[in-house]
Amino acid sequence: MTVLITPGHHEITDTLIMYGLVEALKMRDPFAEVIVVPSGDRYRILTNIDEGEIHYILEEFGKKSYITNLYLYETSQMNILPPVIRLHMLQRGNENRQQENIINSFKFLQELSGEISKLKKNNLIKKLIYIDENHKFLESRKELETLCGKRKKSGKFPSVVANLPIAPFGGTLQGVGSYYLCKLCVALAWIGLYYYSSRIVLSSKDSQQTFVHIFKPESESKGETILMLKNISQINLLRQSIFKNSNLNLHTSAVPLLLLCFGETSAAISTVNLKSIVYTFTNEKKGPTWRTAIRNIATYQVNSLIKFVEYSKIYSDKLLRLIDVLLRDRDSDGMLALSTLSQAIIYQDKDQLYSAFREIRRVLSKNKRENLLDQGIIKAAFESIA
Ligand SMILES: [Zn+2]
Repeated sequence: MTVLITPGHHEITDTLIMYGLVEALKMRDPFAEVIVVPSGDRYRILTNIDEGEIHYILEEFGKKSYITNLYLYETSQMNILPPVIRLHMLQRGNENRQQENIINSFKFLQELSGEISKLKKNNLIKKLIYIDENHKFLESRKELETLCGKRKKSGKFPSVVANLPIAPFGGTLQGVGSYYLCKLCVALAWIGLYYYSSRIVLSSKDSQQTFVHIFKPESESKGETILMLKNISQINLLRQSIFKNSNLNLHTSAVPLLLLCFGETSAAISTVNLKSIVYTFTNEKKGPTWRTAIRNIATYQVNSLIKFVEYSKIYSDKLLRLIDVLLRDRDSDGMLALSTLSQAIIYQDKDQLYSAFREIRRVLSKNKRENLLDQGIIKAAFESIA
């Protein structure tokens, strides 16, 4: 049994790296045994794939996957980036530098065998490909040397700037500089972000707000179950239009409910303890340039929300239309009702659930769609918090 251990940079970055690794292992062999065991901010990935094959599998993924090929062979010839890439990079005003960082790390992934042979020492190789649990540091008798994750570009592992979307904890500090991660961490995290995050963008002329959502498995899960989480994010890539040019005031607690409703959920994902991480960027236009900052990182336990969506599908056929009407409500009342509903279910609060349904009824009657809140949805909500 081979065990890979994510570096322990931050719960968001490690979750993205874990997704990148599972995606690569499962793409090579869908029947390979892959088990993800969370431990704090880090993950152990257990697999029956031989230790000596890991770097070949990563390299092959770098050569064959859609996302690496999109960057390496297509975006370099384009003056205007396709929307899927702009959405992927997220950090407005910094697209060219982000693109460069991504391309550099994807190239590294594609040439991983060659890059590894430059490291020569076996202990460094094991550290780089996460077999040694201390990927970040090299300890010698004299000193503790940082290999990956610091505010300087030097060291034994080739590194690039970790942009905010994959490392929201590591923004550029004035006088201190940018945050650097090794190219393997960066490549895997961007791959994880592409396949496993969902994004909701609210934009106006001079500002933009981006909500990024990822699931963090908090109990042992099979690789197959991890792959199912991809269905939720991928479908949400296509559902941006409703939020275009919107002045809606979206509360982060409504994000997991929206994604679970519009995405493809499966009963299998409720076998895992899942946390939602929602992080928000704000982009503001100052003169000709855009400034980006991380505004907030929120986390929610979402198993009761998953139950609610599952039960609603059984008891009612109106949930999606209900959500749609609430989202399209001209004032922010519909959105507010949605966040109350989401919070009531997340925190399993009956009183708040009654208020949520009162708020929802008010918005529906304003829009003359009272019929959309049926007994099935109400039953599903109360059963999900029972
Ligand atoms: Zn690294």
